[in-house]
Formats: sequence, structure tokens, C-alpha cells
Amino acid sequence: MSDSLSADTRVLVVGAGIMGAGIAQVAALAGHRVALFDLRDGAAAAARDKLAQTLDGLAVKGKLAPDAVQAAMARITAIGALDEARDCGLVVEAIVENLDAKRALFQQLEALLGEGAILATNTSSISVTAIANGLQRPERLVGMHFFNPVPLMKLVEVVSGLRTDAAVADAIFALSKAWGKVPVHAKSTPGFIVNRIARPYYAETLALLQEQAAPPEVLDACLRAAGFRMGPCELMDLIGHDTNFAVTNSVYAANFYDKRYVPSGVQREMVDGGLLGRKSGRGFYAYPAGAPALPAAASAALAADAQVVVHGVGGVADAFAAALSQPFTRAADSDWTGLEVNDAQLRLTDGATAGDLAAATGVRDLAVFDRLPGTAWQGSLAVAVADAASDAWRAQAPAWLALLGVQPQAVADTPGLVVARTLAMLVNEAADAVHQGVCSPEGADAAMKLGVNYPAGPFEWLSGWDAAGVLGILAALDDTYRGERYRASPWLLRRAQRDLIAS
Ligand code: NAD
Repeated sequence: MSDSLSADTRVLVVGAGIMGAGIAQVAALAGHRVALFDLRDGAAAAARDKLAQTLDGLAVKGKLAPDAVQAAMARITAIGALDEARDCGLVVEAIVENLDAKRALFQQLEALLGEGAILATNTSSISVTAIANGLQRPERLVGMHFFNPVPLMKLVEVVSGLRTDAAVADAIFALSKAWGKVPVHAKSTPGFIVNRIARPYYAETLALLQEQAAPPEVLDACLRAAGFRMGPCELMDLIGHDTNFAVTNSVYAANFYDKRYVPSGVQREMVDGGLLGRKSGRGFYAYPAGAPALPAAASAALAADAQVVVHGVGGVADAFAAALSQPFTRAADSDWTGLEVNDAQLRLTDGATAGDLAAATGVRDLAVFDRLPGTAWQGSLAVAVADAASDAWRAQAPAWLALLGVQPQAVADTPGLVVARTLAMLVNEAADAVHQGVCSPEGADAAMKLGVNYPAGPFEWLSGWDAAGVLGILAALDDTYRGERYRASPWLLRRAQRDLIAS
């Protein structure tokens, strides 16, 4: 049986909601005849009408040719009964997110469609293996997970369940490409790729908020400086805390309550209180005002006669060296990176807190600052000063850090601060996904960049860092918080061993 799908294949889209309408649009513009069905009377026809308006609007803006719009609309039929779709070679299901409803629909469809038809589900959280259970031909069912809004988001996770035929997954992979998408293979596991690897982006910020490490606007600003389009707090406000909390809960439950994925009491309180984000007018921020202004940047004058030593090598050390206007020496073989100013130290975080380092070294005036991926030194950068530090160093440390061109943001003295902690956990989660065969490193990178607009993929961050550095942050977090949450992925441990032997 051939699994090739061509532009001649008629596509049945079931469920004419937000996702179904988008999928119908993409399929029709790619040249397919499309049958659109919805259980609610009139919903498919209404979705088709709305689509016609959307496409006409795109034609007016010059984004689509008017005759392409006309041809695409002529290919879409709103059908009143599934019987009218017997000639379809592919069904993409986008109905309610409910296992029983999806199973019942596919059982009905496989009896109706030809044996060669491919059955695709757009489920975002249900096991593809479970949906296939009870089908005559479970090998014909595959996940085809689009992202919202479908016409704009490039990523499609092609999700294989235990029984999915590899040729069926490959056919959907090829079809997604033909539809102008970037497909990535994934194994059916909780959250697939994107919804799984993204959990720490929210979770680490919620954990920092729980211990009052910094206000939401500071955490958001620090992560924006690391290249994220939106900080976690503003993003959760946009997604809606109810939706975000539900996804976290479902990944947590589906992983047998693994503490790695534990939801946050901070977010549950907001959901319970109806602080759902933009849609309810209030989340972390009040809308339409949004985030309040950031605290004013430090402006202490630098001691001109200070003895300055630049420690370490690489981007940060070089950036300090380039920015210093007073004489300094370099300690390139130091085991830390940053600045020594008289008896005080300003160190790039390796996971240890400023307090840990002060206690271990006897240096009273100690501060740590956060990591920024890449070499663009701009935007907010977290800095934490040891409890025992003098008031003078508390004022001076941010001023020395500002030499890099960043706006220092004082945060509590927590392991890995904001960005290093978040990136380490994202890398760790991606490493575990690869370790468990959910996706390849390239697939994880593509998925996170295209599915949630990350500025780089986790394995790209890792290549600009190193496994030992990521493990150092995780170990410091684990030492402080204990429990399963910060356990290192075996994939990362092996990578660090390999790096050690290679060096
Ligand atoms: P939606 O509520 O906008 O649309 C669902 C449509 O399916 C409704 O029109 C409903 O009448 C119809 N429907 C329900 N049961 C049906 C049945 N048995 N037969 C035919 N039609 C039926 O929902 P949506 O946001 O488009 O989500 C649809 C699916 O896509 C869900 O599985 C969801 O998890 C998944 N998904 C959603 C998003 C998103 O951001 N909204 C992203 C990726 C995947």
C-alpha cells in the first residue's frame, strides 16, 4: 500500500474550530480539495464563510493572489455528514481534546474511508497510542500537531504512537513540508516535544517568584535580554493561566507525578482567584497597562584607584577587559570568570550563590551575576550580593557590572540566578527528551524555535556553553532545593564525560 499523499488527495478536516479552520486553509492553499465537518450544525459552513473573509482580506493586503483565493475557496466544501467524505485519503482531526470522543470518531472514520487512508490527530496532549487503541488499523493513525495560529506557525510535530507505521509518519512528514511547514518527528510521550521542553521556562520563574527572588517585571526583563521574545510572566498572562496551568498539570500527571514537572502553587492561586492574565484583565500585571517600569539602574561611581583584575578567558572576561578605562591585570588561568576589585569579587555564576562562595573563600564582598547567551551584552542582567557583603560593595557591584553595557538588576542570592537557571533546565529537559528517544537534538532545536519562538534551540545553547557548566548549575540547584526536580539527564552526564575525555 502506498503512503504517498499528493495534491490530488482529498483531505477531510473534522472539527471546524480555531485549529480545524486553519488546517483547512493551509491544505486548500496547498492545492487539496478539503471537506470540512463539525458536529455542531452550521459550524463548518460558518467556518468556511469566515475563512473566505480572511483570505479576501489577505488578497486585499496583497499577501495572496485573488485568483489563488478563489481557487482555494472553490476547493473547500463544508459537509453536513461524514458520509460525504468517503473519497478522502487523509483525515486531520481537530475536535474537542477528549480521548473517548477522538477514539469514537476514528473508529467511525476507518469504517468509512478506504484502507489506505491516513488518520491524523491534532491532539496537543493525548497519547497517540491511546487514541489508536481499538482501531482495526492502528498503524494508520499518526499525530499531526500544528501550532496556533496554523497558517503562521511553521512547526508540525509528527507524532508516532507505539503502533504507528513509520511509512505513515514519513508520509505526513513529507506532506507537512509540501504545505510549507517544518515537520519534526516525535514519539508519543507527554507533551510531545514543545509542551514538554518548555515547562521549565514557566516553572523556574514561578519557583523564583514563590521565594520572592525578584518581581515579575525583573524576571521578564532578564529573560528578554537573553533573547526570548516575551518573558515567562507576560507570556503566561498572554496564554492564560488556566490554560498554562492545565498543560503543566497534564504533563505532571502523565509523568506519574514526577517532581521534575510539579505545578506551582503561585499559579494555582492565580487560577483560583480568576487572575487569568490578559483575558481577565489581571494576571501578573494589570491590563491594559501591563508591566510596571523596572527599578532604576544602579549609578554608583566606580573607584578610580581600585586594583582591578579580570579573571578567566572568553566572552565575559574579554568584554570586561574592553570596557575598563582604568589599568587592570588579567588572571587568565583563574578558575572563575569576572572582576576582582581590591578585595571584592564579581563572578559569573557557576551555580554557587554569592553566599556559598563568600563562605567557601572567606571573601566577604562577593557578588555573582547571571549568564547571557551569545555575545550581545545588553538589557537586564541579574546580580546578587552575598548577605555578608558591605553596603559599599552592594552599591559598587552593579556599577562594575554595568561596564558590560547591561542594566544590572538586583535579585535574591539564589543558585543560577535567572537566565542560567532557566537555560540549564531547558537544556536538561531537551537532553532527557533525546535520551528517551522522543526526538533528535536537531528536532528539539527546530521545535523550540518554531513552536514557541525561542531565540535558539536548547542544543544550540549547549554548544555555546558546555555540559559540565550546565551540570554545575543543576547540581547547585539540587544541593539547595533537593528532591527530583533538578536531577541531571543521563544524556548530559555522558556528554560531560565525553567532553572531559576529549579535552
Ligand atoms: P475548538 O473548540 O476551537 O474547536 C473544536 C471544534 O470541534 C468545535 O467546533 C466543536 O464543535 C467540534 N467538535 C467537537 N466534537 C466533535 C466531534 N465529535 N465531531 C466533529 N466535530 C466536533 O478547539 P481547537 O482549539 O480548534 O482545538 C481542537 C484540537 O486541536 C484539540 O484537540 C486541541 O487540543 C488541539 N490543539 C489546539 C491548539 C490551540 O492552540 N487551540 C493547538 C494545537 C492543538
